[in-house]
Amino acid sequence: MKILVAADMEGITGVVMPDHVNPHHAEYGRFRRLMTADVNAAVEGALNAGVREVVVTDGHWNGDNILLEELHPRALLNSGSPAPYSMLQGIETGVSGVLFIGYHARAGTASAILDHTFSGAVVANLWLNDILVGETGLNAALAGHFGVPVLLVSGDQSVCAEAQELLGEVETAVVKRASGRNAAECLGPAASQELIRHKAERAVRRLAARQAVAPYQLTAPIRVRLEFNKSSMADRAIRMPGAVRTGGREITLEAPDMPAAHAVFRAAVLIGRE
Ligand SMILES: [Zn+2]
Repeated sequence: MKILVAADMEGITGVVMPDHVNPHHAEYGRFRRLMTADVNAAVEGALNAGVREVVVTDGHWNGDNILLEELHPRALLNSGSPAPYSMLQGIETGVSGVLFIGYHARAGTASAILDHTFSGAVVANLWLNDILVGETGLNAALAGHFGVPVLLVSGDQSVCAEAQELLGEVETAVVKRASGRNAAECLGPAASQELIRHKAERAVRRLAARQAVAPYQLTAPIRVRLEFNKSSMADRAIRMPGAVRTGGREITLEAPDMPAAHAVFRAAVLIGRE
């Protein structure tokens, strides 16, 4: 069995401030080490459950946060960007399940560390087939296209609740309890890594016992409705072929399947960006 560990940074142990996940800030070095440790805990949990192959994908910023020299020796690393499937690169290689490590709640969520959807500067809201989604939903739907279920989500209590609301009784690892966008009660690294290791092992064992949640599959064609932060962003993105202006700050596009919807969303964000 092969498992993908898809990692983001805002939901990593101890992260509460933007500086913690910004490569241009001095604090970042501490948190990329903590990110690597959270990822390693997930890798260990998967291996403990009998998984033979683990691929890790670094999905934050330019995808070059995880320290390769400190990565678990049994794991491979997808690093750098852009990659065809972005935060989920490797999902197309025949994996049996995916673990979302260090995830964060969608834009506009209360009591959620660094809540945003893909780009805080650009995206106000994203709907797929009229379902409001964040990165958990977007990436779960992309995984679902390949028949891959999400087995575990780690992050604050809000992203874990968002995941369960959308996906059902997926395993979660709450590594911090957010009381605001930049405030949380955090587990220390040892406790947090133990929790992630335990939950990852349990999540993979559930898959082996056919008790994991089903892959999250949306009905094609996929309607991508994107509300930008500014009307000027929609002015730019409306130039995309097939785009329809559905609001002052909003465009809607239809895509034949989830990989196309994912590509269209990313393109619209790039074009809309100021
Ligand atoms: Zn993210």
